[in-house]
Amino acid sequence: MKTVQVSIVTPNGPVYESDVEMVSTKASTGELGILPGHVPMVAPLQIGVVRLKNGGNTDLVAVTGGFLEVRPEKVTILAQAAESQSQIDIERAKEARTRAEHRINANKQEDVDFRRAELALKRAMNRINVYENRF
Ligand code: ATP
Repeated sequence: MKTVQVSIVTPNGPVYESDVEMVSTKASTGELGILPGHVPMVAPLQIGVVRLKNGGNTDLVAVTGGFLEVRPEKVTILAQAAESQSQIDIERAKEARTRAEHRINANKQEDVDFRRAELALKRAMNRINVYENRF
């Protein structure tokens, strides 16, 4: 099987490096499935999951926004934050979810706080879903 090299990098350093058969994720423009030899492109990413398929195995990485760059031999994801399944602290994510839910309920009138809390909730839910393999 042909493979493509994948690097997921954050400001804190590399999070994931591997050769995989397919990378799939949701870009702002819709679902992306990238196979080796894909045409070069750059796409912004939202809060979501990156699925990395190799043989019978699929790795999941939670990403918090950023960019995906495709070159024929290499896919690079530059993310604000990213955690592979084993790096996720599930208790921290659940606490973040609870905090965000409380802020959403308390601050319905204040748009800025509401939006921030919504994004925090999205990040927490994304981490929980990746941890629990719900993709
Ligand atoms: P929290 O409120 O728990 O800090 P957050 O969504 O505000 O969550 P981010 O700003 O997205 O956190 O990330 C800050 C740093 O903490 C990043 O390096 C990110 O990888 C890490 N991080 C955040 N939540 C978790 C988690 N549940 N498990 C592991 N690492 C996490």
